[in-house]
Amino acid sequence: EVVVDGVHKSFGIVEVLKGISMTVERGEVTALIGRSGSGKSTLLRCMNGLESIQKGSITIADHAVGPDRAKLRALRRDVGIVFQSYNLFPHLSVGDNIMLAPRIVKKLGRGEARAIAGEVLALVGLSDKVESYPDELSGGQQQRVAIARSLAMRPRVMLFDEVTSALDPELTGEVLAVMEKLARDGMTMLLVTHEMGFARRVASTTVFMHKGRIHESGPSRQLFDRPQTPEMAQFIRSDV
Ligand code: ATP
Ligand code: MG
Repeated sequence: EVVVDGVHKSFGIVEVLKGISMTVERGEVTALIGRSGSGKSTLLRCMNGLESIQKGSITIADHAVGPDRAKLRALRRDVGIVFQSYNLFPHLSVGDNIMLAPRIVKKLGRGEARAIAGEVLALVGLSDKVESYPDELSGGQQQRVAIARSLAMRPRVMLFDEVTSALDPELTGEVLAVMEKLARDGMTMLLVTHEMGFARRVASTTVFMHKGRIHESGPSRQLFDRPQTPEMAQFIRSDV
């Protein structure tokens, strides 16, 4: 479902991605880990065309990532991305936040959009918050709304970039639980995370990035329990 082949990305003269190749199979969960600055967010942003690449190719949910605006719009309909900051519209209710893209992008009627909003809010355990405004919710609840908003577009692939990093530990668990449920339901997911326990348990594959390259990757259990490189060993020692 995701194929990244020989991707190079530079900002000016600084090469941030130095030949990245990886795949995510349909229905699989892959965790992307690595030190700050190793290029994780950049790779995710390249995957849905928020950043251009200089070399290589990316195919995601049958869309080739490229500069064509219309093609990018089509890609983004099928690929959801959720960031650390949830960016909900503060002047819109939870329900309206979720219905916005289905109504505008997919041109669904109000009734149909409302039904989808109800469904995705139930999925993230916030059915009772449809009329609430973002500032009436906890950080964890806002992040779950942000995930629901993405799901309302019925994406084929979900990308998550450190979605729990800004949350207090007690709120992190409820967001991870939502992601775990999605994984169980068969969503194809690529997630950048510092939650090593979660990655080991929920992701079938873990990819360790180091200085713009994939330094080590494989079945998560194997990677975490028997790291093959000193860098990976040191990373999980310092991060857990
Ligand atoms: P973190 O764990 O801190 O989120 P990361 O692995 O996500 O780190 P990136 O955000 O992908 O790392 O950044 C990789 C490198 O690219 C860093 O050295 C960063 O300074 C650089 N970089 C990222 N975005 C830009 C940009 N828009 N312009 C210039 N340099 C950038
Ligand atoms: Mg990052």
